[in-house]
Amino acid sequence: MYPKAMMELKRLIFLLGAFVFAYLLYYKMLDVRVKPMFGLFVGTTPSPPLPVIFAITPTYARLVQKAELTRLANTLRHVSALHWIVVEDSHNKTNLVSNFLRLSGIQYTQLFVRTPTGVTHAKGTLQRNLAMSWLREVFYVDDAPQGVVYFADDDNTYSLELFDEMRYTKNVSVWPVGFVGGLRYESVKMDAAGKVSGWKVKYDPSRPFAIDMAGFAISLRLILEKPRAFFRLDVKSGYQEPSLLQDLVTMEELEPKADNCTKVLVWHTKTQIPNISRDKNFTNLEV
Ligand code: UDP
Ligand code: MN
Repeated sequence: MYPKAMMELKRLIFLLGAFVFAYLLYYKMLDVRVKPMFGLFVGTTPSPPLPVIFAITPTYARLVQKAELTRLANTLRHVSALHWIVVEDSHNKTNLVSNFLRLSGIQYTQLFVRTPTGVTHAKGTLQRNLAMSWLREVFYVDDAPQGVVYFADDDNTYSLELFDEMRYTKNVSVWPVGFVGGLRYESVKMDAAGKVSGWKVKYDPSRPFAIDMAGFAISLRLILEKPRAFFRLDVKSGYQEPSLLQDLVTMEELEPKADNCTKVLVWHTKTQIPNISRDKNFTNLEV
């Protein structure tokens, strides 16, 4: 009798151990392939992780910089699964941006690259390219999380809905942008089948992709699959966006979002330079 009781006890301990192990595996391990398997046993099926939005923001030192970053952070803080890549146009990381990001409560990466003097027409270009290089260094194409890359300048105005629209981008998605190109908004032309067939713009409609920087997002996979695709420095105004997009997609492949490109969810706003003409030696705050 005694050995049999021992066997039963051993079995019980083994089962208990296996259960604890499975429990720990389910709740402690991040590996998404393990979780759904154990979900069957504990009666819950965890939903797959959200694709990560990588928001790339070039920024430079000026009077309104902290105000702009504050406004943008107040938007991004509400977006789930977002990684903010802030690229300073400077020779070093600045204290202002470092401290700001540390206290922002947003997951971020801080980079910097200085635009050489003389380059005036390509604002933020080297910074956006550096962020793409960073992504290509950090992720292998076969092993990358599902994600989408969006170029979010520090002075624009972004609706929270916009991030829901872009999150499940397969290759490149597009939508209208307000207050750009001399119009209330720019958008795309669509054919009867719901494909993009041209550009609703007034400024140089002959461009291969007449879309503002704020009007598209690219899947992380595509960025990684095309490691040579970058924004070009040597193009005239308005040709920055096509210089990248023409290496990534065709017009017909674009995925229209925001109710078939009928809703404006992002605005190309510009902050007025504040008048501080009376401030000479009056205030001297390190802010
Ligand atoms: N920017 C930059 N360095 C500069 C000028 C601009 O990094 O010398 C950044 C700026 O902070 C913004 C983006 O590049 O995030 C686009 O600049 P801006 O808004 O001035 O361009 P616009 O909207 O007038 O085309
Ligand atoms: Mn701007």
